[in-house]
Amino acid sequence: MEKPKLIAFDLDYTLWPFWVDTHVRPPFRKTPEGAVKDSRDEKVKFYPEVPEVLKTLHQQGYILAVASRTPETAGANQLLKLFDWDKYFNYKEIYPGCKDKHFKQIQKNSGLQFSEMLFFDDEQRNIVDLSALGVTSILVDGGVTKDVVLQGLNKYRNEHCKK
Ligand SMILES: [Mg+2]
Repeated sequence: MEKPKLIAFDLDYTLWPFWVDTHVRPPFRKTPEGAVKDSRDEKVKFYPEVPEVLKTLHQQGYILAVASRTPETAGANQLLKLFDWDKYFNYKEIYPGCKDKHFKQIQKNSGLQFSEMLFFDDEQRNIVDLSALGVTSILVDGGVTKDVVLQGLNKYRNEHCKK
C-alpha cells in the first residue's frame, strides 16, 4: 500500500479557525487551567480533532511539517508551542511567499521527493501550486479532521498506485 513519507499542514483555517495575523492578538499565554489566551484575554481555539490527528500520525511514523504563509511567524510558533504540537513537527516553514518556496525548503531539509509528500490547506491557490510540483494536495473546508486525513491518504494511494 502506497503511503506518503511526509505529511504537511497549513495553519490558518487548516489546524486552527482564524488568521493568526488578523483575528487574534499575540503574544499568547497559557492560563493555570491550561487554556491558551491572546493579549486581549480572548481564548484561542484549534479545530477539535487536530491534537489527536497529529499524535496518531506521529505515532504511525509519518514525518510531519508545517507550511504557512502567515507574516505572523512569531505568533504562529508561539501557538504551536502552547498547544504542545511542536514536538510533532520535524519541519516548520512559516513566512510569507508562494508556497513552492516553503516546500522546496522542506524538500532540501528532509531529502524527500515531492511525490513522497501529502499536503492539507484551505486555499485553492496553494493546492494548485503544490499539485504542480507533484505534491498530493487536499483542499480542507472546515479544518483538519480524522476523516479529512483518511481522504488524503486515500487520494495519495490512488495517485501513486502502480498501473
Ligand atoms: Mg490557510
